[in-house]
Amino acid sequence: MAITTTHFTLPQSEIPTHWYNLMADFPQPMQPPLHPGTKKPASLEDMTAIFPENIVRQEMDPTREIEIPEEVRQIYALWRPTALLRAIRLEKALQTPAHIYYKYEGASPAGSHKPNTAVAQAYYNKQAGTKRLSTETGAGQWGSSLALACRMFGIECVVYQVKVTYNHKPYRKLLMNTWGATVFPSPSEHTKFGKKVLAEDPDSPGSLGIAISEAIEDCVTHPNTKYSLGSVLNHVCLHQTVIGQECIKQMALAGEEPDVVVACVGGGSNFAGIAFPYIQQNLKKGKKIRLLAVEPSSCASLTKGELRYDFGDTAEMTPLMMMYTLGHKFVPPKIHAGGLRYHGMSPMVSHAYKLGLIEAVAYGQKKVFEAAMQFAQCEGIVPAPESSHAVRGAMDEAIKAREEGKKRVILFNLSGHGLMDMPSYDSYMSGNLAE
Ligand SMILES: *Cc1c(COP(=O)(O)O)cnc(C)c1O
Repeated sequence: MAITTTHFTLPQSEIPTHWYNLMADFPQPMQPPLHPGTKKPASLEDMTAIFPENIVRQEMDPTREIEIPEEVRQIYALWRPTALLRAIRLEKALQTPAHIYYKYEGASPAGSHKPNTAVAQAYYNKQAGTKRLSTETGAGQWGSSLALACRMFGIECVVYQVKVTYNHKPYRKLLMNTWGATVFPSPSEHTKFGKKVLAEDPDSPGSLGIAISEAIEDCVTHPNTKYSLGSVLNHVCLHQTVIGQECIKQMALAGEEPDVVVACVGGGSNFAGIAFPYIQQNLKKGKKIRLLAVEPSSCASLTKGELRYDFGDTAEMTPLMMMYTLGHKFVPPKIHAGGLRYHGMSPMVSHAYKLGLIEAVAYGQKKVFEAAMQFAQCEGIVPAPESSHAVRGAMDEAIKAREEGKKRVILFNLSGHGLMDMPSYDSYMSGNLAE
């Protein structure tokens, strides 16, 4: 019996040579970030206090194609190009005429798409003479990605990890230590801000907002230290576009083109990564591919937030950015998809949404885990709780296709695996998951 092809793989020579910058093709220009004091567009000097100049320049660069440095491509080659797979067993289980494809970014050493930008950021920092990088992490996906990247370039890495997850999900902390990073539970005694929080509440469980404030304070109070962010910003979205560029070639290998492309959104980077190259196809080649962002209903910045200037962090240290936001003081409920608990949305993804170039939908976490369980039981891979939102969105598109009796080609981004998130699956299976 002939085996049905389910893997569409590219040779390593097909690792993209350029990142694609949607800024060059937006039908209307984006609003610039503003200095919170003067309300004037933020200057290079405002940003170079915490980021190296080469990254700040890239953040503002409107060039359509930006060359990926050779050293970065060489490290991408450890796991890229990632596989594109067809979920034929899931299609059968759903009795759908739809074809479901997924791009598997969980194959990176850190288990998610995040090293695509971590490696690039560590490279540019190395070029700029940075000796030490500080950052924050929630559950640890970003911290471990940056730890890996810093190790590759011989940069010291300091991570402030939200205390509850530091204590409850120890494996990612150990992964960061394995790659040589120093990890502090936040709030910590290592910063003034952390000490202040601890003085008020010694048992504070911490939050992403507190951890960002500690990481930024660490950056500005240590020599040769810069700060690094794993999502939201333009350069982060840019670095992730290797995902969608590979998908376009791999879907051609499969002899199909997607009708709809689905990804989850927290800060927006993995969605940007798979969707932006397809938006270019719509804008420049007259294609009509739908791009669907899936968010948690408990932190639904696109579908329930408003478009306005807001801070990127709770402590009001970042420039003001034009984005869909629930307000920078909004504290999202403790859902299991920690990586989607962000009050705002990437300014680029926000702009695409405002211009009607993309769609968005929100789901509660029970429906999301139900989809993740079915996916794992059909296809084997256990999706990260974040990625499971995309699984839910893709499955509902396939169910709609069945109801309409139409063939539909669905592509989604499986942004990471869930092997370090089994306590979340435990909550679902033991019926302790709040909707
Ligand atoms: C961090 C993370 C996300 C959410 O971040 P985005 O910037 O929106 O992509 C999604 N999936 C996984 C696996 C993550 O680790």
